[in-house]
Amino acid sequence: MTDGGPFLRDQYTRLRDAQARSGAPDLATRKRRLRALEALIRDHRAQIAEAIAADFGRRPVEETDLLEVFPSLSGIRHALSHLRRWMRPRRRWAGFWFLPARTELRPQPLGVVGIIVPWNYPLYLAAGPLTDALAAGNRVMLKTSELTPAFATLLSELVARHFLPDEVVVVNGDVDVARAFSALPFDHLLFTGSTAVGHEVMRAAAANLVPVTLELGGKSPAIVGPNARMPHAIERIVLGKLLNAGQTCIAPDYVLLPRARVQEFIDGARAAVGRLYPQLAANAQYTSIASERHHARLCELRDAAVEQGAVVHELAEVPANARVIAPTLLTGVDDRMGVMQQEIFGPLLPLVPYDSIDDAIAYVNAHPHPLALYVFDDRRAVVERVLDATLAGGVSVNDTILHIAQHHLPFGGVGASGMGAYHGEDGFRTFSRMKPVFRQARWNLVGLLNPPYRTTFRRMLR
Ligand code: NAD
Repeated sequence: MTDGGPFLRDQYTRLRDAQARSGAPDLATRKRRLRALEALIRDHRAQIAEAIAADFGRRPVEETDLLEVFPSLSGIRHALSHLRRWMRPRRRWAGFWFLPARTELRPQPLGVVGIIVPWNYPLYLAAGPLTDALAAGNRVMLKTSELTPAFATLLSELVARHFLPDEVVVVNGDVDVARAFSALPFDHLLFTGSTAVGHEVMRAAAANLVPVTLELGGKSPAIVGPNARMPHAIERIVLGKLLNAGQTCIAPDYVLLPRARVQEFIDGARAAVGRLYPQLAANAQYTSIASERHHARLCELRDAAVEQGAVVHELAEVPANARVIAPTLLTGVDDRMGVMQQEIFGPLLPLVPYDSIDDAIAYVNAHPHPLALYVFDDRRAVVERVLDATLAGGVSVNDTILHIAQHHLPFGGVGASGMGAYHGEDGFRTFSRMKPVFRQARWNLVGLLNPPYRTTFRRMLR
């Protein structure tokens, strides 16, 4: 093992030994663990929302309930109702020459799973992978983000109360702890965070040949097609952008729209912000930027773009001296600007005009594959063209964000936005070994293939 730090190593060893002793847990044990997680979240929702608000500075309870508590609980309930079926071996066909043998894929737990969680949705991005890993029968070590200390302390207390110490362990600490964590010889490691740190995590995992799922970030485009219903497209893009003040991995990062409709978008977005967040300066339903560092980064991105010729359109006033950034559109942007190079992760939204839908597609394809892509258009042919010609982790058509909430769809990135996926049955499989098994029949013909060789087996080659 590479250096995991004595404390982490002890925790890891306890889980590994427990798994080795008890083997794959049965359905009842897995359900008990999932119900423990459900109770942990359901019974402490208010405390959880309070802790996250303390970490962010300002985060409305409604946003935590809607974007973290609800999807976490519904993911657990989905797993509880489908687990019996997921755990069943799946029959496959044996090759003709091997009949009447039978073959199957048999799901088995991998062992000890590591999960690394970012700060932006600290509950959902812990509970989501934890649900899938527990459903698949694993034990789990979970590393919280150092930027959500109040939530991290609460989560470790709650986990210690609801789980046995050899079932789930929460590890809190800074980046050094995170590095040591990613060097443990897990049976699988799921990391959610930035693409830059994803490189480091994958390198650390490679030293122990630990398979990884990387849930990373990037710049997710929203394409407004020539036949889009503008008021609808604008409202859904604005909403997708302003939830959690844009600190969402699948928030629309920039908008591609027909050149003639830029002013219509700006006017419509101003009206939409007024409707969704009335009197934003005093509105407690608009989240603040999670840290001074992130606030300064966003201000610098915006100011640097202005210096390079971009025009800023602030869509509402925000209180002075607060870590809040106004919903802001940027026009006149180009690819030299940081705001068009880095993932924005805040309420700044550049508008990029195009002359034809093919130009919009070419723009997307000239950049790394995004985690999410949004397309708004009422012509099926336009939507199909965009779907066929671009590659993205996931897509919502005529909406934003909602593909992440579908338990029957896998969630994950592609290329620079990640590898592998989870959620629902796809998550169960990510954390299971789908073991292929060949079962020979008592009466069979394979003896015909034994030496001394006859001509029989040559028929197989015809
Ligand atoms: P981050 O990469 O800075 O940190 C994520 C986690 O990694 C934290 O727990 C941190 O302690 C840990 N970490 C930091 N350095 C590490 C190292 N060298 N080795 C191992 N672990 C290390 O990300 P963040 O700022 O917390 O989150 C924002 C990023 O996450 C954005 O890029 C966003 O798009 C992405 N994100 C992706 C998803 C997704 O589902 N794909 C979801 C949320 C956020």
